[in-house]
Amino acid sequence: MINRFMRYTNPCEKMKPDQHTVYCTFCDAPEHVYPGHPDHPGRLQPMRAWLEAPPYPEITWLDYKPAPEEAILRVHHPALLDRLQQSSRSGPREIDPSPTYVTKGSYQAARQAAGATLALSRRFLTDGQGRGFAIIRPPGHHAEPNRATGFCLLNNIAIAAADAIASGIRKVAIVDFDAHHGNGTQAAFYNIPQVGYLSIHEENLYPGTGRLNSAPDAHGRIINVPLPPFANRAVFLGIFQNIVTPWLRKFGAEMLLVSAGFDTHFSDPLTTTTLDTCAFYEISQLLIELAEAYCQDRILFVLEGGYDPLALQDNVQACLAALCGRSTFPNRFGNAPDGYAQITVNINHIQALHHLSEV
Ligand SMILES: [Zn+2]
Repeated sequence: MINRFMRYTNPCEKMKPDQHTVYCTFCDAPEHVYPGHPDHPGRLQPMRAWLEAPPYPEITWLDYKPAPEEAILRVHHPALLDRLQQSSRSGPREIDPSPTYVTKGSYQAARQAAGATLALSRRFLTDGQGRGFAIIRPPGHHAEPNRATGFCLLNNIAIAAADAIASGIRKVAIVDFDAHHGNGTQAAFYNIPQVGYLSIHEENLYPGTGRLNSAPDAHGRIINVPLPPFANRAVFLGIFQNIVTPWLRKFGAEMLLVSAGFDTHFSDPLTTTTLDTCAFYEISQLLIELAEAYCQDRILFVLEGGYDPLALQDNVQACLAALCGRSTFPNRFGNAPDGYAQITVNINHIQALHHLSEV
């Protein structure tokens, strides 16, 4: 029998004494759909009920508009926008072998997803702090300045980061825990010293980038932590303690953006990483605490992957529970299976590579 709401009692659990408003946006892009593709509106549609009755009273939904071209062009080349508009007009069709598709409504859907992200980041800049979640599709972190790829048309999180820098924020940090490397985000900021990027991902998956030494000119600012298959909660928490924490302490960002990809859940059909819903709750709590300590209490989760719709719903809601200082969330899949080979990550080597040992 499915236990709809389970109380999670991990000893790491903390209740925040102060309850924050948690701002959210929702874009399920029903017009962006292609037969048999893993990224489809059904990923998010079970969550639509939240619009009518948010599960936690701290949640406030924000309205948004399509991202203005001016903001998109801080990250993407005009030629990509032209290609997306033209290919959308002649859609539905595949525009990249990754496979990435467009339909007649895809260009507008991509601008809506980017706009839903911008509405939150801009709100946090105005307010001086803020916590929230852009629950959106199509995802963004694979979209490169001049190429739509990896199911991604526009790079939502990169557009928000570039917009924050243009608005006067001194530094933005991006942490990416999607199972795939965010090649697009790394490419967008490879030469931009105000933006740091740290990606934890499964090695040898699409797009094949994100190796340990793949950003030699940006050590200490762009950090890639590729993991062997079947990495679990313990591996992730060790990386958060020993790499993510000292990096955020040292980098000095004024806003933390999170590429929240839930294809690291053990049920996901595209990956082997074995996180479970409780692990996402813990990771979210850690990131919120780190943002509070080192990023002026500004944290925005931006949805990336996650291709088991039921697991995605639970995982997003666990993240929202952490944002709201709540301790109950749905956990229909239970604990990740164990019994996989012990995964080891050379933490000392990564710390030395990025000058984090002394932080
Ligand atoms: Zn992914």
